[in-house]
Amino acid sequence: MSDVEISNVRPWGGDPVDIRVSGGVIREIVPHDSPSAEGAAARDDARDAEHDLVRLDGAGRLVFPSFSDVHVHLDSTRVGLPFEPNEVERRNLWSFIQNDRDNWRNAGASVTDRATHTLGRAVANGMTRARSYAQIDADCGLERLEGVLAAREAHEDRSSVEVVAFPQAGLLLEPGVPALIEEGLRNGVDLVGGIDPCALDEDPRQHLDIVFDLADRYGVGIDIHLHEPGELGLFSAQQIIKRVRALDMRGQVTIAHAFFLVGLAESQRAQVLAELAELDIALATVAPSSRGTLPLLEILEAGVRIGLGQDGQRDYWSPYGNTDMLDRTWQLAFTNNLRRDSDIERALETATLGGARVIDPTTDHGASRGVGVGDAADLVLLPGEYPASAVMDRPGGRTVVHAGRIVAEDGELL
Ligand SMILES: [Zn+2]
Repeated sequence: MSDVEISNVRPWGGDPVDIRVSGGVIREIVPHDSPSAEGAAARDDARDAEHDLVRLDGAGRLVFPSFSDVHVHLDSTRVGLPFEPNEVERRNLWSFIQNDRDNWRNAGASVTDRATHTLGRAVANGMTRARSYAQIDADCGLERLEGVLAAREAHEDRSSVEVVAFPQAGLLLEPGVPALIEEGLRNGVDLVGGIDPCALDEDPRQHLDIVFDLADRYGVGIDIHLHEPGELGLFSAQQIIKRVRALDMRGQVTIAHAFFLVGLAESQRAQVLAELAELDIALATVAPSSRGTLPLLEILEAGVRIGLGQDGQRDYWSPYGNTDMLDRTWQLAFTNNLRRDSDIERALETATLGGARVIDPTTDHGASRGVGVGDAADLVLLPGEYPASAVMDRPGGRTVVHAGRIVAEDGELL
């Protein structure tokens, strides 16, 4: 692995620095143009000849930790394919499930190709850490999982991807689904998924018992889609909380969407958030429209880990999503009506470090916020004046570094 010297970049909009990376880790940060930097450059000239030293001119750009997409459906994406008419009526979840079932096998490209292309575009836009779902059900078996695993392998030098075995169509409505999920766990899956235990399977106890039992037996984490609103969602969340406590699964469970939080009275929401913080249950949001906008600042204030995701992208569920986590960061700030620079910066922290902590709760970035000595060299460089302006402008001209390697430049994978 080559060493990398990134010169003249501004961590989180601060003063220009030079960053030295080796072994995939940030080893040294010195002020740009400082005498020590010049000395180091002279040393490097000598070293260049005998060692691999890659020099990257930051040209005064901002530098942040790379983006983390903690809620993405790589198995359903149609990014890069022609737009398809979508007039699916929003009757219930099942109308979308059926529309997807009717179409995914004839999508114009295989799951492997679609997932690989989409993951590559996301990396080119600055995302190097993902948690992707792979739908497993009676219709597709493990076929879609295989596509997601192939995409992960294709980009393994450019990104790290966790895969969730996701029972999109429920665990109980069709025969054999829990056994298929278990087969997924024996074949490279990192987490067990669940979905709307009351609204979809209409049997929260059995649904959650299956999910937690599988996670317990295979020693993996859990990631549950919880779209259920109001009292219903609160009930399901309490069932999840109860099981996390009983099995001591602190730090291993994520609730995605969590729309029920929106409808709660503020005091009740504070109580639920305190419990999530205590049990270290994370949240994931895709920054949806008003109906499901989670109060970001309130959640951060409560000390709950939260990350951001793209969800499905241009697929049979939704035409939204374009693989650019910076666009989604703008959406997170916009839907939360954030206006102060410092608040917008927190949205950017959520899209980068927040997601990293959803994936690995032991990640501690401290004051350096992911661009400090000892931090993993997973970085994105982009033009801009300061963090909030970059979120508003969403510029091109990015350079992406993963595990100390330059993996994309100006929108193209290297
Ligand atoms: Zn989802």
